[in-house]
Amino acid sequence: MMDTNVKTMSGSYNRMFIVLLLNVLVVGGFIPMSHVNAAQLRAGVAKVDITDTTAGPVNGRLYVRALLLNAGETTAVIITVDAVAIGEIGHISNNYLGSVRSQIENELQIKPGNVLINASHCHGVVCSDVDRRTFQAVKEASLNMVPVNVGAGIGYEDRIMENRRLKLKNGQEADVRHAYSLVPDEEVAGVGPVDPEIGIFRLDRKDGRTLAVVYNFAIHPIQGVPGGGNTADITGFASQVIEDNLGEGTIALFLQGCAGDINPVWYKDVNHPRDAEPLGNMLGLSTLRALREIDSKRDVRFKVINEVIALPRADNAQRILTLEAEQERLLESLIGTSLNLKTFIPLVVKYNISSEYPSYYSHAYMHDKGRGGDGLEKLDSENRRNMSQYIQNIHIMEQLTRNQTNLALLRKHQAGLIADGKGTIDVELLGLRIGEFVLLTFPGELSVQIGLNIKNMSPHDLTFVAGYTNGYIYYAPTAEQLRNVGRAQEDSDCLLAPEWQKIYEEKMLGLLRKL
Ligand SMILES: [Zn+2]
Repeated sequence: MMDTNVKTMSGSYNRMFIVLLLNVLVVGGFIPMSHVNAAQLRAGVAKVDITDTTAGPVNGRLYVRALLLNAGETTAVIITVDAVAIGEIGHISNNYLGSVRSQIENELQIKPGNVLINASHCHGVVCSDVDRRTFQAVKEASLNMVPVNVGAGIGYEDRIMENRRLKLKNGQEADVRHAYSLVPDEEVAGVGPVDPEIGIFRLDRKDGRTLAVVYNFAIHPIQGVPGGGNTADITGFASQVIEDNLGEGTIALFLQGCAGDINPVWYKDVNHPRDAEPLGNMLGLSTLRALREIDSKRDVRFKVINEVIALPRADNAQRILTLEAEQERLLESLIGTSLNLKTFIPLVVKYNISSEYPSYYSHAYMHDKGRGGDGLEKLDSENRRNMSQYIQNIHIMEQLTRNQTNLALLRKHQAGLIADGKGTIDVELLGLRIGEFVLLTFPGELSVQIGLNIKNMSPHDLTFVAGYTNGYIYYAPTAEQLRNVGRAQEDSDCLLAPEWQKIYEEKMLGLLRKL
């Protein structure tokens, strides 16, 4: 240890010389930082394959990536997992977070509250021993710690995503999902916001080679790949592009942001195979472009804060009754017509090709008129009336499927509320500062507006928010979006009462001031 060496010397000149020599050795990476007592930031990274190879064809590998950071007394771990969520839904169990954290605490003496685990929210299938492999990545990272410089900045990408909630002319909102049909175009009045910022921090070895890139962006990585197959989706491709283009051994960790209401573009396209790769490539290239503008330097600011708060749970009993009554009304509004699908479709084609003479050639209409007849005109008006009613029935059917899907989500969470009986839900929040980079987390699917609000209110220039972290409590929409309960996925697949947003944002402001 430095202190011991210094004590054997006498005189301040010798002491200064030793300190100087140690700095040269440490900064040059010749001796590990644990041997000196200073707050130089050190980091180690590793990546382990977590693809479930027994779950059908594999299009791309899924990974857990670990970044271990240490300065002086503080150690933190950032883990990113190519999975849908940390517990509750998908293939990662509710024991995972606790199990990984206790292995890290027991073997590496790192506090559980300093371990951040973010799910990319891709819908790939991970292997059953994902907790063991996660610890393996952290352990490997701990074995290759080196002194690092840090830098942070913002990239820009707005071509690959869109807000999936549609503002309707009747004041309600609808959403763009595969689970049901979209509302008719003429009902749509506007769309919601997106966040084009890519929050980036880089860690460079003292010789300038990049050790790790951590980047944060808000998008649902659910585009899929042609032919299906297991995939880490958009953000998996993005990380691969970054890793392929930086030096040997560089690891890119993606932190999913406030993607609750953010879809990939062209999500409902029925004319091309779904393909996450070009979207991921664009995100990766935009991150690389921004990285060129980010310099790294020695920066010892490093802080972790972990707090648990209780948020109010929603009681949607009344809302469920309202939606059930609406289901009844919709059913009763279906009216029989003479048409079925087989007769309806050819009629639609005919009446669109020739609106004046749909049923036969024009001369027949002319002869009919010459004879003083109106049989063809009567036939046309009857067909038009039937088609219009048939289309109305289809729209009612589409609305019934939307209501039914969201009603099922509401009933599920209402049963959970009754079973739990507590009325509040505990959420773990983590605040992290590394150099200029400030990160806040939330264990659910925050709507993008919440992330934009936090960035706006933050006293720090480079503030970013990662949802999907350290647990999973479903969607966390804004209070305004929660006026729409039962009409869209985010407001129905949700445990929170509208008051949650103010409580959370105030708490976040408090955390930001402490960081
Ligand atoms: Zn989601």
